[in-house]
Amino acid sequence: MIDQDASYDREGDPAVQQEILEQVRKKLTELFGHLEHEVPLILFADPLVNSQYSEAARAVIRAVRELTDKVSLREFGLNHELAQKYNVSHSPTLLFDPENIAIRWLGAPVGEEGRTFMEAITMLGHRKTKISGPSQNILDKIDSPRAIKLFITPTCPYCPQQAVNALKAAIAKPEHISLEIIDIQANPDLAEQYNAFSVPVCYANDVMIAQGALPEELFFASLQKLEQQNIFIPESDAELVETDLTIIGGGPAGLTAGIYAARSGLNAVIIERGALGGQVALTPVVENYPGFTQIGGKSLVDIMVSHALQYVNIFPDEDVMEIKIEQPFKILTNRRRYTARAVLLATGAGYRHLGVPGESRLSGSGVSFCSTCDGPLFKGKQVIMVGGGDSALTEALYLANNNVRVIIVHHRDTFRAQEHLVNQLKDNDIQVIFDTEVKEIRGDKKVEEVALYNNKNHKITNKSVDGVFIAIGYKPAVELARKTGVTLTDDGFIKCDNSHRTSIPGIYAAGDVEGGYKQIVTAAGQGAGAAMTIFEDLVNPYWKTKGGKV
Ligand code: NAP
Repeated sequence: MIDQDASYDREGDPAVQQEILEQVRKKLTELFGHLEHEVPLILFADPLVNSQYSEAARAVIRAVRELTDKVSLREFGLNHELAQKYNVSHSPTLLFDPENIAIRWLGAPVGEEGRTFMEAITMLGHRKTKISGPSQNILDKIDSPRAIKLFITPTCPYCPQQAVNALKAAIAKPEHISLEIIDIQANPDLAEQYNAFSVPVCYANDVMIAQGALPEELFFASLQKLEQQNIFIPESDAELVETDLTIIGGGPAGLTAGIYAARSGLNAVIIERGALGGQVALTPVVENYPGFTQIGGKSLVDIMVSHALQYVNIFPDEDVMEIKIEQPFKILTNRRRYTARAVLLATGAGYRHLGVPGESRLSGSGVSFCSTCDGPLFKGKQVIMVGGGDSALTEALYLANNNVRVIIVHHRDTFRAQEHLVNQLKDNDIQVIFDTEVKEIRGDKKVEEVALYNNKNHKITNKSVDGVFIAIGYKPAVELARKTGVTLTDDGFIKCDNSHRTSIPGIYAAGDVEGGYKQIVTAAGQGAGAAMTIFEDLVNPYWKTKGGKV
């Protein structure tokens, strides 16, 4: 039996401590003994500010320099010309090889962060980051600057993982990526400025991209998209994918169909050209999806996508160019070919436009169709929200909650939105202009003014605004269906029988593209229904018995 007490006693034994130190020294010498490249460090320190951090930084660097002569250190005060050259204002700031890369440490690499510092020296000394293949693919797509600010503390056990992710990015792509690792205890002013009171928290280009530590691929994807990613879908390099069912569209209808089809035993895949989740991903808050009293649209989408990924492969960022009507169907995308015994069109709907002068010219320069995407850019500014349905009101409330001054402009005298939303407008001080149409959006390089036409008294007034948000509904995305020869309804939706079959045997439709109530829950229901019909038809071909008429 092990005598626990005796072993604890031995830990305090100076001989044992010496032995442990020797082992650590041996390991570190192995680690640093074979560095191939010089790692020049520059420490900037003010003796009157954070001197204990400066001293700790010197001690760590001294310890490393005892193990390798590849690491060099120069030290300067904050008033030295090099501090100006490198734009250093905080003490202490440690720069790593500043002529070649842009990595700096504000604080001292001590405590848990000692590990990160060792990793930094090893990666720089070998010029190797050991980035995974999928991460490298994401990194290759970054073609514009990313200034990372990672806030940490020396006592945070999760911080080194995120710090190493960020180091890998900055070392692997120095032409575009810079990194500041900021110890919030040594730099309370920066913590305050960025509201960084829970670490690790990471900003890129002043946009928060990650809270907590992320797996490497998710960190890289968040850095690329400048938005925290919760799901990583690896890229496929297959040229041909053979399926029973190819689902086109990764919104609630397509994702649900994927789950149902795979659970029936069908080999199904989902292809999505834009954002997974479709319109839901852009909805600020969802309050009527059973099971969630209130959930962000993007969070709901992430849950749906993770669920679907347990059953089906998803091919994102892929545009279907053509469906060839033969058995099996041939589906051609911008990346590869698919074969399928059945095809489900779950292509959703796109934004409806006003069609007024200035709308398309100033789109992206003050005209927006997505308040969750662009709302934060209009903090403290004046915008109008055009529309009178659930989207317009939900999004106006979202903007108001983000300190955007918003006025709803609606062409009727009543809303068609849910009463629950209408009631919230007063509580949020949102002004409404009824019976009014936007006739023109003006501005030189960005939105400056709108011309508003009162359809009761026929007067036109000009109103100065910084932005125009448009939420006047959606039109079904039927270009592919039309090109394929699928019959449409008079309203422009895909014509289906009660079981989601279109006019072409083997091609089905579900969700907003098929019409109906256009709710998340109804789209999911249509997807489930379509998948069940497809399964039954493939087992017992309906079209052979019914003659193929809708
Ligand atoms: P919507 O319900 O079709 O409402 C569109 C609004 O824009 C209507 O008020 C419409 O006026 C107006 N409009 C249409 N064309 C216009 C034009 N050319 N100029 C000015 N105004 C115009 O669309 P939505 O609000 O995007 O909602 C789509 C679907 O998603 C709905 O079924 C909705 O219930 C659902 N949704 C639900 C939620 C939620 O539950 N939280 C959130 C968002 C969306 P008219 O009344 O004259 O047609």
